[in-house]
Amino acid sequence: MSVFSHPEYDDHEHVAFHQDPATGLKAIIAVHSTRLGPGLGGCRMWPYASDAEALTDVLRLSRGMTYKAALAGLPQGGGKSVILGDPRKHKTPELMRAMGRFVNKLGGAYIAAEDSGTSVADVRLMAEETAHVGGLADAQAQAAGRSGDPSPATAYGTFVGLKAAVKFQLGRTDLKGLKVAIQGVGNVGYRLAKYLHEAGAQLWVTDIHHPAVQRCVQEFGATAVSMERIFGLEVDVFAPCALGAILNDLTIPELKATVVAGAANNQLLRAGHGEELMQRGILYAPDYAINAGGIIEIFHETHGYDEAQAKAHLDRIGDTLTAIFQRARDEHRPTGAIADRMAEEIFRQ
Ligand code: NAD
Repeated sequence: MSVFSHPEYDDHEHVAFHQDPATGLKAIIAVHSTRLGPGLGGCRMWPYASDAEALTDVLRLSRGMTYKAALAGLPQGGGKSVILGDPRKHKTPELMRAMGRFVNKLGGAYIAAEDSGTSVADVRLMAEETAHVGGLADAQAQAAGRSGDPSPATAYGTFVGLKAAVKFQLGRTDLKGLKVAIQGVGNVGYRLAKYLHEAGAQLWVTDIHHPAVQRCVQEFGATAVSMERIFGLEVDVFAPCALGAILNDLTIPELKATVVAGAANNQLLRAGHGEELMQRGILYAPDYAINAGGIIEIFHETHGYDEAQAKAHLDRIGDTLTAIFQRARDEHRPTGAIADRMAEEIFRQ
């Protein structure tokens, strides 16, 4: 398994491997960049098939955090950690504390937060061993009723970004009657549906979890559709809010929407699919730009929460996307490539 010559290495500042036989902890921390500040990123626990798979995941995710934080205008770098193991079988309080000690060894270059397979409760266990954790609402945030859950802010930021995309592509500021198909109505998708419904949009929704769909049908008058049909609907906007890699060779030709704007991470199966969307005249809101609401909120919740400031920061997601769209149009390049370039201009300056 190569590290320095790994295809995802991309000049990472630190990659640290650690095991703790007493608790069974096996983990990797990757810090891509601390140029703008400490590398903040979630601690993921996953039953990886191999060490190599875990390394690839942590490197890719940590690099992604650098780009996301830079574009979101945060004084933070990018990092990520992975614990190799099944959270349902192998996670114990002792293991999470051992992870906290590992995080502590990096001396603040990496700030851990929750991710797939870990929870705010796990981050609290890490916090018993290190001060270098994020995503735990401070006293001011708690007094304002904030819990450290990033989903509401991610949904709001996605709504702001979707409006910017609709304005740019369709020249519309009024969402009344706008047709939107949402894939996945979980924590983020449901709240996005609520914002859209309140703004007068017409909704089509799908989810593998039937009650989640029913809730949108009852509360927002949404039309339930099967998972296969969600791509090819005659709608204005397709909003992916479930899983990654859903913009691919099979789904892109089906799309009739001319805007793709949703919260899911890693929506493009390959970067080339961004080019494909552009060629078809579909405006794609780069995922890490439109779904940055969560990390923006976490930053504010842990740095003396001020509701107006946090909201103003979330609203800037719309301006960032508009700048990406304009530059992509001017240079005739895919929006994802432009977002990467803009992020690099910020963190490499
Ligand atoms: P969630 O698990 O609450 O919701 C996802 C929903 O998608 C679930 O209801 C699930 O049943 C459904 N789903 C899964 N596979 C599906 C499929 N094939 N077709 C239709 N529905 C399917 O997750 P979430 O927190 O709402 O996050 C949604 C997406 O946004 C994820 O990709 C996540 O990585 C990304 N994201 C979330 C946040 C956040 O703050 N929660 C921040 C940034 C990005």
